[in-house]
Formats: sequence, C-alpha cells, structure tokens
Amino acid sequence: MSATLTAAGLTVRYGGVRALSGVDLTVEPGTLVGLIGPNGAGKTTCIDALTGFASATGRVRLGGDDLTGLRPDVRARRGLARTWQAGELFGDLTVRENLLVAAGHRSWRQAITEFLGRSAPDPAAAEEALDLLGLREHAGTMPDELSHGTRKLVGVARAVASRPHVLCLDEPAAGLDAGESRELGERLRSVAGTGTGVLLVDHDMDLVLSACDSVVVLEFGEVIASGAPDDVRRDPRVVAAYLGGA
Ligand code: ATP
Repeated sequence: MSATLTAAGLTVRYGGVRALSGVDLTVEPGTLVGLIGPNGAGKTTCIDALTGFASATGRVRLGGDDLTGLRPDVRARRGLARTWQAGELFGDLTVRENLLVAAGHRSWRQAITEFLGRSAPDPAAAEEALDLLGLREHAGTMPDELSHGTRKLVGVARAVASRPHVLCLDEPAAGLDAGESRELGERLRSVAGTGTGVLLVDHDMDLVLSACDSVVVLEFGEVIASGAPDDVRRDPRVVAAYLGGA
C-alpha cells in the first residue's frame, strides 16, 4: 500500500483559540515522520484534522485522492488510519481477534461484505500485522494478561491490520520503558518497510529522533522547524521551545 499524504494550510479553531495554524505536512510512502512539540502545541489536533475528527480548513490529499471535508470513516476506508492516545483494546477478544476487527477494512472484501450485509475480515492482514509488531506468541492471549507495553503494540497492530497507506500514531510510547520504546521504534521501521507511511506523535524524543526519517516541530499550532532529526535537534527555535516549556 503506498500513497503520499499531503496536508496544506491545515488550520483548526476552537472558539477563539487557533489550535493549528497553516500547517503543511508530507508523509511519503515507506517513511516515518515525527511530529513533536511542547504540551498543547497542536499535535493531536493535527492528527484530528488529517483524519477528519476535527473540523479544519486547508487541504488533505492521499495520493491522487482528495480527502478534504470527508468523514473520518471514509478517510479510514481510503487508507488513512489512526490510533488514539488512550487506545482501548476490546477486552473480551484475543489479540488476534482484536486485529481481525480491523483487518480487511478496506479490501475488496469490504465492498462485497457491505453488499452482502455481513462481516468477513481478511485473516492474512491480521497475521501480517501480528508478525510486523512481533505479537505472534500473544495471538491467543486476552489483552488484560499482557503488559502495558505489549498492549500498546497491539493497538498499533490493530491499525496496521487495516492495511493503511498512512498510519497516524498518537503517543504510542506513552508509559513505555526505554527498552519497550526501542522495540516499538524497530517495529515501526518494519511497518514503514512495507511501504506504509507513518506519522508519529510522541513525547519520547529518543524514539522520535532515532526512528524517524524526518521531524516536524509544532509550537502554538505552527510549524517552527522541520527536516532531518539531527538538524531539528540543533535548531535554536526548537531548543528554545523545549527549554521554555520545561
Ligand atoms: P499534548 O502533548 O499535551 O497532548 P498536543 O500538542 O497534542 O498536546 P492539542 O491537544 O492538539 O495539543 O491541543 C492544542 C490546543 O488546542 C491546546 O491549547 C488545547 O487546549 C486546545 N484544544 C484541543 N482540543 C480542544 C477542544 N476540543 N476544544 C477546545 N480547545 C481544544
């Protein structure tokens, strides 16, 4: 699956507050793009605007497909998946069943099953997601028997199982220790290796700067820097934004 996600001039207003202001963003197939910034900078709002959960001005395209103004479920079917900061799993389903809920979401099966009015998930997509996130040994396990770190991987795997063109991840490393976070970075590289574009929002700088091909930095809803991780790390505006927020 490969298509470039392009956002141009994304702007979101909540009452008098401009949560996002003219943001341009590109996620190429097979690349990991980090989106960072201090608390309240607009990172989640940006994912909400891209995926249709926040009402935004500006344009969102996925390959040749104009997603601007479309509902979130339609954008998801066109190949733009997301996870949530508090991504709850289905507690009474095994790990594999959690993935099957999402698997096949956008395949030809979707069209046929919508027509027939019943669900027939694509098991191959779920199995591929199990392998990409290293979850095969947990396939038959119930979520509450897993560690927090493994549950976070299942949340990502569930989105991967929908075989998206681009995957937006909202703080997948929250609550992970350093080892788990490193593993997550490696798994995300594997996901990108299949051609999927990944937009990674996280506060874990080590993860974002080591795993991502490029990084976009938001402050007060505006892009203040973007580029290769090493350049962004040294950018004086980025250093000031983080020291100011510390
Ligand atoms: P964090 O790192 O703390 O999760 P963030 O960078 O994801 O923060 P957002 O959650 O996108 O930031 O918030 C951006 C701004 O928009 C903040 O000022 C926030 O208070 C405001 N905001 C977010 N959602 C809403 C909403 N539904 N209604 C009103 N204001 C909102």
